[in-house]
Amino acid sequence: MPKIDIREEHDGGVDFTPVDSESISLWHLFEARKPVYQAKVKGTFRNLKWMVMGLLLGIYYLLPWVRWERGVGAPDQAILVDTINRKFYFFFIELWPQEVFYFTGLLLLAALGLFFATSLFGRVWCGYACPQTVWTDLFLTVERFFEGDRMAQMKLAKAPWSFDKVRRKAAKHAVWLLIGLATGGAWVFYFQDAPTLWRDMLNGDFYFIPTFWMVFLTFSTYLMAGFAREQVCTYMCPYARFQGAMFDEESLIVTYDKARGEPRGKQEGVGDCVDCRRCVVVCPVGIDIRDGQQYRCINCALCVDACNAVMDKLERSRGLIRYNNLAGTIPCGKATFKDVWQHARFVRPRTVIYGLIMAVVAGVMLWALLTKSLIDMNLVHSRNPLFVSLSDGSVRNTYTVRLINKTWDAKTYYLRMDRPDVTLRTAQQTAVAGDALPLTVKAGKVAEYTLFAERPRYTHAGELYPNHMAVTLKVTDEDGDTDSYETVFIGPNEE
Ligand code: SF4
Ligand code: SF4
Repeated sequence: MPKIDIREEHDGGVDFTPVDSESISLWHLFEARKPVYQAKVKGTFRNLKWMVMGLLLGIYYLLPWVRWERGVGAPDQAILVDTINRKFYFFFIELWPQEVFYFTGLLLLAALGLFFATSLFGRVWCGYACPQTVWTDLFLTVERFFEGDRMAQMKLAKAPWSFDKVRRKAAKHAVWLLIGLATGGAWVFYFQDAPTLWRDMLNGDFYFIPTFWMVFLTFSTYLMAGFAREQVCTYMCPYARFQGAMFDEESLIVTYDKARGEPRGKQEGVGDCVDCRRCVVVCPVGIDIRDGQQYRCINCALCVDACNAVMDKLERSRGLIRYNNLAGTIPCGKATFKDVWQHARFVRPRTVIYGLIMAVVAGVMLWALLTKSLIDMNLVHSRNPLFVSLSDGSVRNTYTVRLINKTWDAKTYYLRMDRPDVTLRTAQQTAVAGDALPLTVKAGKVAEYTLFAERPRYTHAGELYPNHMAVTLKVTDEDGDTDSYETVFIGPNEE
């Protein structure tokens, strides 16, 4: 019977076990997860990770509480996604649904920023700033606090259930759930006024939608950061698979210096790698960087810290594992930021092109923001009927006008058609022919008016007007802000 080799990875390497082809089941196609027990490490990159983690978590949890004065009646939360009134507030920026293109620009900038950072520093986003990395790192810290470092955790996992084991596990899961709750809680505060929602919760008023999202995010954070961990990066995130397309020869990635390290061993006359496996046990995804560049590596550089500490103890130069590029231009030595800065080539066609595209997109968005009109007009010509012939012989067209007041003051707008012989009116008021019609809109609101436009059947010269006349309606506020809309005025074909 033909045999098939089943690949199995373990701490000492990879084994291939021959299995009868007939006894192969679907489950042989899936590799069982090997738990990663990460050892504690100290060093420059670990410190950098602590700082980035503190900064990002601080921003995430505290931002909903930052206030921003916008005027009477306006929400004073600096960042607010107001789903009820369909508006987005970001400090001094206020976006309406009609301005969704800003979000497109923002997404484009974010994608380009990721490409740009990856072409410079490899998967720096994954290693330091991705929410999955940040929360997993936080959960691992909690785990270490209650269960001890790697060896203690492994021992505890194998130990039979006891009061001490239950106590440690229960405390860890309780804190994980609390972090999940804080994460879900902070998320819903971005969608409603945070102090009001907080007060309502304290009074026992839990509304369905915020409560649903809070519970959902509590458990998804708990599952993703507590259990799925590195599997999210390895199996779920598409970025790991296409990151290679963003690298070039000069992109900085974490590499093992094979020429210096091999052959590995503790005896005299071999390479510098003493095969202590410190670089492996500190790795949050459980890989061995000495096997070469791997799609699972998130470029967190914790193995750099671990190996540097080993090299310091052995009084050998640092940098056996270091940030380097595929061209290998960063020399081994102290491997400090200065070394990297001096020997890396950051200005390259790829990075320049990404930088230029980002500058253009950011420039266009900034220009659009700075020249943004605070008034918006939409207009629909009534189709049923297209026009009405009035008893005095004149012709009437009807339009539905929507005016959006994007300021936090009540406004009067003046609507005018570019035809001096046309009279504009609403149910409430009539303008003199050719004059502007005043329309009021409350602060930060949308007002809808039925607009009647009437003109005589004949021109001054006594001729019938063309049945299809292009017209422009222009709206102006007291501050000179304007918006206009092109439409048609329809009349009869013949007498
Ligand atoms: S930490 Fe350094 S010395 Fe130890 S196994 Fe890894 S590469 Fe070799
Ligand atoms: S191999 Fe090194 S850089 Fe890559 S994920 Fe593991 S510890 Fe981080």
